[in-house]
This record gives sequence, structure tokens and C-alpha cells, in this order.
Amino acid sequence: MNPKVLWPKRPSPLLYQLLTPPTTALSSSTPAQHVPFPPPSPTPKTPPLSALPTKAFLRSLLFTSVMASPLMMPCLSILKSMVDSQSILLSPAKNPLVNYLLRRTVYDHFCAGVNETEVRRTVQDMKDLGYKGVILGYARESIAKVEDIDQTQSAEAKQEGLDRAVDEWKQGTLRTLKMLGEGNYLAVKLTGAGPAAVEALSRGDLTPPPRIQEAMTEICDAVAAQGSRVWIDAEQQIFQTAIDAWAVDLMRKYNQNEANGPVVLNTYQAYLKSSTATLNTHLRLAQKEGWAMGVKLVRGAYIAHDHRDRIHDTKAETDQNYDHIVESLITRQYPLGGQPDQPFPTVRLFVASHNGESVRKACALFRHRMVNGLPAIPVEVGQLQGMADEVSLGMVGGAADGTVPGVFKCLAWGSTEECLHFLLRRAVENRSGMQRTRDTARALRGEAWRRWAGEN
Ligand SMILES: Cc1cc2nc3c(=O)[nH]c(=O)nc-3n(C[C@H](O)[C@H](O)[C@H](O)COP(=O)(O)OP(=O)(O)OC[C@H]3O[C@@H](n4cnc5c(N)ncnc54)[C@H](O)[C@@H]3O)c2cc1C
Repeated sequence: MNPKVLWPKRPSPLLYQLLTPPTTALSSSTPAQHVPFPPPSPTPKTPPLSALPTKAFLRSLLFTSVMASPLMMPCLSILKSMVDSQSILLSPAKNPLVNYLLRRTVYDHFCAGVNETEVRRTVQDMKDLGYKGVILGYARESIAKVEDIDQTQSAEAKQEGLDRAVDEWKQGTLRTLKMLGEGNYLAVKLTGAGPAAVEALSRGDLTPPPRIQEAMTEICDAVAAQGSRVWIDAEQQIFQTAIDAWAVDLMRKYNQNEANGPVVLNTYQAYLKSSTATLNTHLRLAQKEGWAMGVKLVRGAYIAHDHRDRIHDTKAETDQNYDHIVESLITRQYPLGGQPDQPFPTVRLFVASHNGESVRKACALFRHRMVNGLPAIPVEVGQLQGMADEVSLGMVGGAADGTVPGVFKCLAWGSTEECLHFLLRRAVENRSGMQRTRDTARALRGEAWRRWAGEN
């Protein structure tokens, strides 16, 4: 596979579509809306998905078509029974042929590699495609259920088990960090530290247990020393109060250096009715105490499992809230409003979404602010590996003058079984994103037609 062969020499036209907002793109409250948007540069011709090498393109077409169809649920059930199977015929852990087939298909599409060498190659492939960098997470997640702790064990044996899970998580996370270079992101899921973390997070403890605290300090020290960044994933609501408190403590400690910007980013889930207020509170705290906020903004992946009444009633409301937060931050305003000249903290925003509309609005507003010399904040955008390539590739290769946000791809690494377990969990969490997958499938079919017809 040589992505360079198909890499477009010029920025794609979609970049300019992404950068040119429709007149309705920004809400009427945005001062930016009243300023004429700069006309797009001469439009180059290369469609974004043409950058995908043939093999990756065909795999993408196949998987996205399945994911967007009624076959999705039966396929997930089959995959789950294979991954959980003890049968020598079906289990990827026991049958090398099954392992090979899954590796060359599902795994290669969604995952970065089983070891350092493979991951580094995938990271390089991403850079060759024009991505600014990657976010990398370890697919192995410790057993995160408190009820899995054997209650018949002695207190010492139980503690030993809890500590072992934290240590394994820390080692895996530090190993993941070593595969990354400067400017790339490490993804950390706190419940991954095992039952001790789950217990403390679900109790709402505002500080982590000492062993987890030490592990987090070691991880963040290493991240800062390497010039990378770390983001803390958002999880189910039961954990989120404590995750926010732990993340704020980390931001307070590691986001002091003005020159380098925030090392730690916390994740905010725009589908939560409380998200705007939470973010507003953290921004005010950052301003008051003099540290920088790292904001990774998602819509939220746990709608099927969480208290529904705490989530916006409709998708449209979630979308509106997401775009409102993006717009507020980029224009350096508190999302709950306030005086226009209020001091605003140093903020870095990562727009983590497959929604082309939201991403396009964010990019357009950012570029508009930069081109017109208006105050803004650093913005980056990113999507998961194997997902929404038409959105990601539509923006890569943008202006090198810093007026276009950097585009990242979020990767997971680990053994075939670890990654398949991880993918199955993510597929269940993300079932509500099916409409988006249909958009990607449509874009891929358009690209298939373009390649078949031999269009340029
Ligand atoms: C790089 C990256 C990192 C991520 N990290 C996290 C993370 O740390 N924590 C996390 O929770 N998620 C995370 N996600 C997943 C994310 O929260 C979304 O589930 C997923 O990206 C789909 O949302 P979208 O913005 O891509 O767009 P869309 O596909 O347009 O939106 C789908 C989302 O809209 C919301 N929604 C759907 N139906 C309704 C409804 N009826 N009412 C209200 N809201 C509705 C849900 O949040 C749903 O996931 C991440 C996603 C990406 C791309």
C-alpha cells in the first residue's frame, strides 16, 4: 500500500466547500456572521476520497455499506460470538486462519497495529495522507466492573488485584505514549485502570485513589516531557462528575505553560443538558486560577445506556448545543454568555466529530477569524480511524498558513482480540450514529463511481 501514489497534489475542493459556510451556517448571535466571508481560492479538482489507496478504499466501501445497512446488527452478533467463542474453529485466539481473516479485514480497517512497528507504519501512512497527526489509545481496557472483584478474597489479595490492574493500565498507557511523537495525542480512558477506578469514579470521589493518582502523574509527566498531549475520554454519567474533577486537577497542574499550551484536555459531551454549564464553570475556574483549558468536544456516545432525561431531547438540540459551544469558544466567549470584553482563559479546542456539518462550521469560523485578524483560539479536528474519511480527507492539505485547523485521525492499537472487544464495545456505544455512516457510505459510492468511470 502506497498512499503517496494517490495523494492529491493540491488541496481538495471539499476543503473549500468546508471552509465556505452557507449563509445560515452561523447563528445570528455571532458577530462573525455580519462580516463578508472571504471568497474561496481557485477551486482545485481532486475529490477527497481519491486520496485513499485502492485497497483501503474498497475495504472502506464494504464496511461502511454493511454498517449503514440492516446487516449491521446480525454482523455484530456474529463477530461477538466469534470473539467470545471458545471453539477451536471460531475463536480468533485459537484458530490462526480466523485470526488472519479478521486481521486483514475488520482489524486493518479500524485498528492501527499489534505492536510498535505496525503502529508506527500506520501513523506514517496517516501522515502521508496529509493528516497533521494522530491520537492513539490502547484498545485493552481492564475489566471495569466492580462486581468482578472476588469478594471471598482476603483484603490483601483483593488490594493486590486492584493494584495490578492499575499498574497494567499504566504500563500499557506509557507504552502507547512511546509510539507517539511530538504534537500527537494520547487517549486515556480512566475506567481502563480497572475496578479501583470504577469504584472511585462511580462513588463520585473528587480525588483519585493514591495508586491511580501516582499513575496519572507518571503518565502526564511523560506526556509533557515528550511534547505530546493527553486527552481524558468522557464516559457514562455515573463516572462523569469524578472524571471532570480529576481532569480539572490535571489541567490545573499541567496546563500552566503559556508557550506550549494545554498538555491535558478534558472531554465535554454536548448531548448532556448540563454540558454548557459545566464547561462554563471550568472556563471561569481556569480564568480565575490562571491555567489553560484543553477542550475536546464530542456529542456523547452513551445515549443508549444513560439517564435519558439528562440528555437533550432531540438530536437537533444536541447538534445546536455542539455548534453553539464551538462557536462560543472560537470567538472567545463563555458559552453561557456574559460581557463581550470579559477576560477569557487560554483555550485549545479539539472538535471530535464525524458530523461534516459541525466540522465544516468550525473550520469556516476559525478560518474567518484568522483571515480577518480577529481573536480566536487554536482549533484541531479529528475522526476515528475507518470512519468519516470523506470528512477527514476533505480537510487535509489545507492552507499551510495556519488558517485551517489541523486534522487528526484517532487510532486504537492492540492484539486482534483486544481490538475486536474494543470495537464491539464502541459499536454498541455508537449505534445512534448510523445516519452519519449512511452519509459516508453515500460519499464512498460516489467515489466508487468516479473511479469506475475514470473521472479525474
Ligand atoms: C475522535 C473522537 C473521540 C471521541 N471520544 C469520545 C469520548 O471520549 N466520549 C464519548 O462519550 N464519545 C466520544 N466519541 C463519540 C462521540 O461522542 C459520538 O458518539 C460520535 O462521534 C457520533 O457523533 P458525531 O458528532 O460524530 O455526529 P452525529 O453522527 O451527527 O451524531 C450522533 C450523536 O448525536 C447524539 N444523538 C443522537 N440521537 C440523539 C437524540 N435523539 N437526542 C439527543 N442526542 C442525540 C448522540 O450523541 C450521537 O452519538 C468520540 C468521537 C470521536 C470522533
